[in-house]
Amino acid sequence: MTVITNTVKHDLCIGCGLCAALCPQDILAMEWNRYGEYNPVEVSPCTTECGLCSKVCPFAADSGENEDTIGERLYGAVPGIQHRPETGYYLTSYVGYSEKHRPTSASGGVATWLLETLLAEGVVDHVICVAPTGDPGRLFSFRVFDTPEDVRTGAGSAYYPVELSGVVRTVLEVPGRYAVTGLPCFIKAIRLAQQRNKKLRERIVVTVGLTCGQLKSRHFTDYVAALAGVQGRVMGVRYRGKSPDHPASNYHYAFTTADGGEHRIFWNKGIAEAWGNRWFTPKACSYCDDVFAECADVTCMDAWLSDYYNNPSGTSLLIVRASNILNLIRQNNDLDQLSIAAIDISRVIQSQNGVIKDKRRDLAYRLHLAASMGGIAPKKRIQPNNGDNLINRKKLRTIVGMQKQSRQFIRNNCYSVTDIRRIRREMYWKIILLRFIRLLDFSASIYHYFLQRFLKD
Ligand SMILES: Cc1cc2nc3c(=O)[nH]c(=O)nc-3n(C[C@H](O)[C@H](O)[C@H](O)COP(=O)(O)OP(=O)(O)OC[C@H]3O[C@@H](n4cnc5c(N)ncnc54)[C@H](O)[C@@H]3O)c2cc1C
Ligand code: SF4
Ligand code: SF4
Repeated sequence: MTVITNTVKHDLCIGCGLCAALCPQDILAMEWNRYGEYNPVEVSPCTTECGLCSKVCPFAADSGENEDTIGERLYGAVPGIQHRPETGYYLTSYVGYSEKHRPTSASGGVATWLLETLLAEGVVDHVICVAPTGDPGRLFSFRVFDTPEDVRTGAGSAYYPVELSGVVRTVLEVPGRYAVTGLPCFIKAIRLAQQRNKKLRERIVVTVGLTCGQLKSRHFTDYVAALAGVQGRVMGVRYRGKSPDHPASNYHYAFTTADGGEHRIFWNKGIAEAWGNRWFTPKACSYCDDVFAECADVTCMDAWLSDYYNNPSGTSLLIVRASNILNLIRQNNDLDQLSIAAIDISRVIQSQNGVIKDKRRDLAYRLHLAASMGGIAPKKRIQPNNGDNLINRKKLRTIVGMQKQSRQFIRNNCYSVTDIRRIRREMYWKIILLRFIRLLDFSASIYHYFLQRFLKD
């Protein structure tokens, strides 16, 4: 079985590109599908059916591994290591920022600081991260960089599909030590590939994970650009614009167009609706149980905690799993404008409560839904469960419906994804229903809070 029959046919591909990079016959190429996501396609028929593509696929069942088994093999024996079910293994957790990188970075700039420092201190020879391309047909891609200045061009988050096949082929061809950034499922794919490929095992020496709630198709960017008033093609986008008069949580997207114009739109002016209701989210993300990139040496995320999210400059949280990264941070803290302090792991978990609920409790119900409708879902660490309350079940079913509908707009070729009025009209009743459900949900939680306090007194 190849990934085409195993994963792509069931619409469970996240587009990481590892299968295409490792195929011994070189018959897989990464291309856009009709939903604006990357998928592998067969450029010539597979004649050997060796199955390697499925063994490295994070969404195929063939590897027989999950984030628990991979994490244990990598970090289980690290001296001083601890474990939490939500985060996987960890040595320590930090909160802070890099003053130099903060203005152009997504959060506190610690990821870019770390990548630059790995190069500067000779821990790695090359850094693989994501950077803008200037190509309107493919706004971002993974790139291999050899200097801190180049690495800095990749600062910021790309809420846009990117795939690893090209850069992994480079790693296989060009000797050296590499650091790679990636979302949890991409890091898992790299780990699965490393188990089966000696060069990748020896050459990828640092993995920097990003906490992840969901990925978006390229149609998401077109939709938000239209919301921001962009007419014509988007040449570039910065997803995490900061402004001194807005809290870090109300960041803006800044789109550049061919005429050099810039169009901004803030999170609370329409992005939140599309993001929170999972419009243009790949189906694979509905079956993901890794919040904190459990297979990465270090994971970076936003400090979504009340002490930090009002600070417009942005603040990072970090989970460190590898001893060499811990030493690097300890040696450089308070130098080179890096300012970080230890923070209890429970606060890091608290900062991602929403994503954890989505990837644990809500995932159990989505797995149940898939099974009850005869659909195929990948094997997860969470068991299918129908036991959620009625309100949450209705909310999840409505969101699943919206996610599906948003991906069909282009598929059916009825109208353009930039026809925002039509899209919102099509979604109207679901939007109203969800507002009502969320209000009910909120009232129920307030009621329970006061009931518990009353019973305690
Ligand atoms: C799709 C997506 C979903 C996310 N969801 C959450 C979430 O739910 N909660 C949360 O706290 N944080 C989430 N993050 C992470 C967050 O947006 C920041 O990337 C993180 O806090 C690091 O910030 P920083 O300032 O330290 O990094 P920066 O200094 O901005 O550096 C980020 C590094 O990551 C690389 N990068 C950017 N996008 C990608 C990508 N798509 N794939 C691989 N590498 C990339 C950049 O090239 C850069 O090297 C998400 C990120 C992405 C891309
Ligand atoms: S998820 Fe990655 S490995 Fe699996 S089919 Fe898609 S591109 Fe290939
Ligand atoms: S939600 Fe999971 S599957 Fe989707 S991009 Fe993030 S890590 Fe990958």
